[in-house]
Amino acid sequence: MIKTKNISFSYTEFEKIDELDAGDRELLISAMKAVENAYAPYSQFKVGAAVRLESGTIIAGTNIENAAFPSGICAERSALAGAVSNHPGDIPVAMAIAANNTEGLTDDPVSPCGNCRQVIIEEEYRNGKPLRIILGGKRKIRIIEKATDLLPLCFTMKFPGFTPR
Ligand SMILES: [Zn+2]
Repeated sequence: MIKTKNISFSYTEFEKIDELDAGDRELLISAMKAVENAYAPYSQFKVGAAVRLESGTIIAGTNIENAAFPSGICAERSALAGAVSNHPGDIPVAMAIAANNTEGLTDDPVSPCGNCRQVIIEEEYRNGKPLRIILGGKRKIRIIEKATDLLPLCFTMKFPGFTPR
């Protein structure tokens, strides 16, 4: 029997950074500052991400492009790589993302690409803790309470028949 099913999720939207609580604001400002360190000579699209760890520590990352395009890395994975590599056991609980085009901070918030979503949810799954996503733009800010919401029906270590060793 054919069934139509529906997947939906809710997120919070803000108009100004002042509306965020102090911790989220600090994290988003860290992402906005990280933008300045991006290496994006090909796209001119500079992205910054900042990961908050359970201890409160913030680790930032940027996109780092490369002449061999697939060798480049996004800000989100860059930040997570730094966090996981340098702070083992300190669980990432939130990530803020911001991006500048040639005119400055984007009007609308930028969302992580599919590749980054897959990497972010792996953290969420392996730690068993929601990783909040804060997407910052000039005109609006979105908060998604768990990264998995951004990748419905995703492939994870919990997939039936997939037994990671
Ligand atoms: Zn990405």
